[in-house]
Amino acid sequence: MLVKQCLQMGDLLLIRYSIKRFSKLIFLQLLFINSIMNIGCINSNNSSCLQSNLIKNINNQTYKTSNAQNISWHFDKDFNSREQERVKKWLEFCLSSTNSVIGDYPFIVHFYLKKSANASEIVPWAHTIRNREQGVEFYLDLAFDDSILYSDWTAAHEISHLSLPFLGIDKSWFSEGYATFMQEQILIKMGVSSSKMVEEKYMQKFAEYLPGFNSKETMVSCCDSFVEKHNYPAMYWAGAYYFYLIDNKLKDDDLRLSEVIKIYQKNCRLKNESFQALVHSLDSISNHHYFSDYLKVFSSKPASKIVSEWRNNKL
Ligand SMILES: [Zn+2]
Repeated sequence: MLVKQCLQMGDLLLIRYSIKRFSKLIFLQLLFINSIMNIGCINSNNSSCLQSNLIKNINNQTYKTSNAQNISWHFDKDFNSREQERVKKWLEFCLSSTNSVIGDYPFIVHFYLKKSANASEIVPWAHTIRNREQGVEFYLDLAFDDSILYSDWTAAHEISHLSLPFLGIDKSWFSEGYATFMQEQILIKMGVSSSKMVEEKYMQKFAEYLPGFNSKETMVSCCDSFVEKHNYPAMYWAGAYYFYLIDNKLKDDDLRLSEVIKIYQKNCRLKNESFQALVHSLDSISNHHYFSDYLKVFSSKPASKIVSEWRNNKL
């Protein structure tokens, strides 16, 4: 049953690669425009260049093997030692960046690596492992160079999933929304995006997908309907909107969702809580009821009202 659920979760990811390709295309185009115009930086709210930041972060000792003892590596035998070192450096960087944002994981993270050939992108396929082991299986086409490897968001997304327990396929809107929101926060830490770029991306994605929820049904019901129609990006970004709203509320108290997750990881993650218990824990940690309040909104209010309130900036 668990294996089947994991595969279904993986299926969702496969569909999502269409958005991923588009996002990457935009990123690479920006880098290209940056280089031909010699404008120095694509980070409009910081004078230093994102590319320089990324390279600096990768080479920063603090991002190196501090988590080496918390990773269990499972390479297929067709990886040579040089390829293994390359992949280890990348995933140690991604895990360390994730830990910086949402805290250390209180368990060993298992990384399974398999090769993919002639793929259209460097990570054509990845999915989490959610049984007695907590980990991620990646398929990699190593023909792509490091600039593409380090700007890919797959690892940030998949690794962030592990900070919450597996909640079941019927809560995909919640878990995928969480990882979709959090991957962007991790990409800021990695130096791939700036805060301003991420905020603009959230706005762009909400503007793209939320109008499609103009329905008498609830947001959660609409998400289920979108999944049945294989419109996975709508479900991912509606879920991300839930976490975006909570993060904004928490900012009023100088708190962030990422800080709440840090405490959750430390005190609650190993309990593998049910969905309701998880929401209760997050409320308790943040000392507010935002998680349960917005859950009520998303599961009982007509989605059309939420869309209207989003348009009027009233949620
Ligand atoms: Zn996911």
